[in-house]
Amino acid sequence: MSGPRAESHNPAEGRNLAEGRSRATSGSAAMSGTPAASLRGGFAHLIDGERATSAEWLDVIDPATSEVFARAPSAGRAELDRAVAAARRAAADWRERAFDEHRARIRGLVQTLNDHQADLAELLTREQGKPLEQSRAEITRAATQAEGMARIPIEPELLLEDDARRIELRHYPLGVAGIITPWNAPINLAIGPLTSALYTGNAVILKPSPYTPLTTLRLGELLKDVFPRGVLNVLAGGDELGEWMTAHPGIDKISFTGSVESGKKVMASAAGTLKRVTLELGGNDAAIVLDDVDPKAVAPKLFFAAFVNSGQVCMAVKRIYAHERIYDALCEALAEEARKTKVGSGVEPGVKLGPIQNKAQYDRLVGLLEDTRRRGARILAGGELPAGPGYFFPPTLVADIDEASRLVREEQFGPIVPILKYRDVDDAVRRANDTRYGLSGSVWSRDTERAAAIAARLEVGTAWVNQHRATLATVPFGGAKESGIGRQYSVLGLKSYMEPRVISILKQPL
Ligand code: NAD
Repeated sequence: MSGPRAESHNPAEGRNLAEGRSRATSGSAAMSGTPAASLRGGFAHLIDGERATSAEWLDVIDPATSEVFARAPSAGRAELDRAVAAARRAAADWRERAFDEHRARIRGLVQTLNDHQADLAELLTREQGKPLEQSRAEITRAATQAEGMARIPIEPELLLEDDARRIELRHYPLGVAGIITPWNAPINLAIGPLTSALYTGNAVILKPSPYTPLTTLRLGELLKDVFPRGVLNVLAGGDELGEWMTAHPGIDKISFTGSVESGKKVMASAAGTLKRVTLELGGNDAAIVLDDVDPKAVAPKLFFAAFVNSGQVCMAVKRIYAHERIYDALCEALAEEARKTKVGSGVEPGVKLGPIQNKAQYDRLVGLLEDTRRRGARILAGGELPAGPGYFFPPTLVADIDEASRLVREEQFGPIVPILKYRDVDDAVRRANDTRYGLSGSVWSRDTERAAAIAARLEVGTAWVNQHRATLATVPFGGAKESGIGRQYSVLGLKSYMEPRVISILKQPL
């Protein structure tokens, strides 16, 4: 998936882009658009502690109306060079400050997120589409994660001490970290790497997705005086800005969250300067439901794990493997959840699922739905697309689907989920693991020990039992296989923004 390229601002071009979406047949979901209020202008990069703008602009579309409602500056190479130079200057001093000072500044960040939760959430819903309640939860969650990470101690380790030698392992900041984020959870996915980088003594250049630049830019402004000048720089821009960052000799590390395809390009480009990389990429998470569950009890939990944020979550449940004994009952219970879920504009009360964030992703999902129908799978709920405006796609559950179909093999990243039948749990594990992805997975059962033994066989970064999407600041998160490289959060995540250095002392005086 790639974002819009920067253009000289022209409202008419934006409208054409918005109206390019194919109009669909009427559907069951209740929805209405947000008012066509205009929020043009007012957004700026943060470079060297100052607001900065660009000659080029990005149009930002409200996915509930498919209309341009704001614009963001789009950084060129000159702005990136300025930001990198500022970050390098600032990093020289920032790296020397004690962890306590870094921690105090992170507390300022946490305070800012909490103080501005309501206005940031409103903006987030407007540009991203998710219901207000979920936007608020995203901001609060980001604050909690930041707070938790900045409590983690990073101490020198004594590797060996005897009469002759003492060998210590210490960690030092890398320098300048470039952080590149996607459009599904712009604040939450920025705050993890941002906190890690800043707390461990690095300066930062943060680049949000061109689809959702606004909340990140606003946060940058709010944090202007929380960190010393130049320590935090925020630049909006298209995919090309991300490419320049990955190749820039003044950036020491890239934290990239996005698709597998872009992640591979990031790694190839970062190789030119041997930058360190953390890649948080896509997933195709399987949930294996054992034969002993009560389908009605498990359905609401599974439904939420699959459909929250309209399925646009890296670690959403994307395939459900259900034992044949409970298959039909689980299909019905999940379909019932889908039917009673209100879809609509994120600002409307009672709405649980908002629109798809952008037209390219909406079109991809329409293609997956058409392919699924062509293959003769059974649509249990959803599947009927409402007429526009807005990129609305109702929660859709699919049964009796061929394992080789695109919906099972690919990461859908949207509200359409297959339910697959199995008889033998070994076969379910084999099918769950038969993918190039390895982000996370889960096993659901009344017998947690039995489920834990099965969960441990999943080839993933995180295997949950009777839950999905549960992360903590102190617990590493990241992908196996093509779902990523490295881990965020925890001491492992923090140390990935630092260079290990061995201090090896021969005690015998010269
Ligand atoms: P994307 O890869 O298209 O874009 C992500 C970001 O990278 C954007 O800021 C984009 O401008 C930038 N970018 C694009 N091409 C680049 C390049 N060649 N070099 C440098 N930067 C580049 O992804 P998306 O469509 O925004 O996000 C959806 C994907 O992100 C899904 O696959 C989802 O699973 C994944 N994701 C993963 C996690 C995780 O933690 N593992 C979390 C959220 C989303």
